[in-house]
Amino acid sequence: MVEKNRLFTPGPTSMFAHTLEIGSSQLPYNRTDQFSQITLEIIDGLKYVFGTQEDVVIFSSSGTGAMEAAVINFLNKNDRVLIINGGTFGERWVELCTVHGIPYDEMKLEPGQSPLLENLDYKLSNKKYSALLINAHETSTGVLYDTKAIGRITHKYNILFIVDAISTICADTFLMDKWHVDVAVLSSQKALALPPGISFLALNQNAKEKLKEKTSRSYYFDISEYLDNQDRGQMPFTPAIGIFMMLHERLQNIQELGIESAITQHIKISNHFREGIKKLSFSIFPNTPSNALTSIKCHKGINAFELVKKLSEDFNCIVAPCAGDLKQDVFRVSHSGDQSFKDVNFLLYAIKNCLKQYSPNTNIKKSKEG
Ligand SMILES: *Cc1c(COP(=O)(O)O)cnc(C)c1O
Repeated sequence: MVEKNRLFTPGPTSMFAHTLEIGSSQLPYNRTDQFSQITLEIIDGLKYVFGTQEDVVIFSSSGTGAMEAAVINFLNKNDRVLIINGGTFGERWVELCTVHGIPYDEMKLEPGQSPLLENLDYKLSNKKYSALLINAHETSTGVLYDTKAIGRITHKYNILFIVDAISTICADTFLMDKWHVDVAVLSSQKALALPPGISFLALNQNAKEKLKEKTSRSYYFDISEYLDNQDRGQMPFTPAIGIFMMLHERLQNIQELGIESAITQHIKISNHFREGIKKLSFSIFPNTPSNALTSIKCHKGINAFELVKKLSEDFNCIVAPCAGDLKQDVFRVSHSGDQSFKDVNFLLYAIKNCLKQYSPNTNIKKSKEG
């Protein structure tokens, strides 16, 4: 038997057996009443996971497509945007605003740190900014920002609040309407545990008002087109039908059990892993980690990037390295998808075994051929 390939990456995440089953079926034709019905049920399910009563549109793209749709549809050259940039995904907002000529300032953070709310309040209080862009969970370091508290500030100053919630929804509590989030984006391959390829954008009335000022053009990412077609359960273009069918089942399951159950599962798995990894004298990198992911800081003498490679080569455990300056010191383990305590225990066992091959202050010794 082929040894199990254990996926502990933030996306893709390991898919549930039900999802895999649906993935092996023929596709239905999408221009039918039955498919419209499925689409409407999906939209209801998505509203539930976003925590909104308002609209959600669906794109056939990875998460970055939905981020770009947010920039194109809700921002223009007359805006001035503040971007909280705490890593790779904050940087993505910066790059998107640059490409589309949206004026912006950055609030750069130390990796793994959250923005200081007093600083943010002060920056937004002078009315210079019309929108704030954040990544609720900055997946590159595993830090979870306090979106609820930030939403109170943007609400106070009447600033459009656009949140990349891609790697937090279904893992941590996220309540779009209650937290005054105007636009939120999500994609299929994180805590929803589906293949990559579809992304979602939720928008409220404030955002719809902003839609009227739209100046930049995009044929595919024109949100008004999606909203127009959606009333009858259709989409302007062929959706990723296969992933739609899997999503339909996942959302039904999440709704039946309650989203709290998905979040509780993440809490249990992440706590179990964190207890174990601390016993191996690693430390947790961010101050306020998401339940979706643990970023682990290696102690002296252990090279994080080498460890990631060894876990894959010797144990078929796929964890994620960090980019840039963190690459040698920090690695990331996801808690999303089909994971059990047994899988986590195996990963901890694998890490422990890799450690045996280190001695203090040296690089890893050559691995035994096996
Ligand atoms: C995964 C992720 C994205 C989207 O990346 P894609 O590769 O385009 O799907 C965006 N933001 C965050 C915070 C993410 O974790």
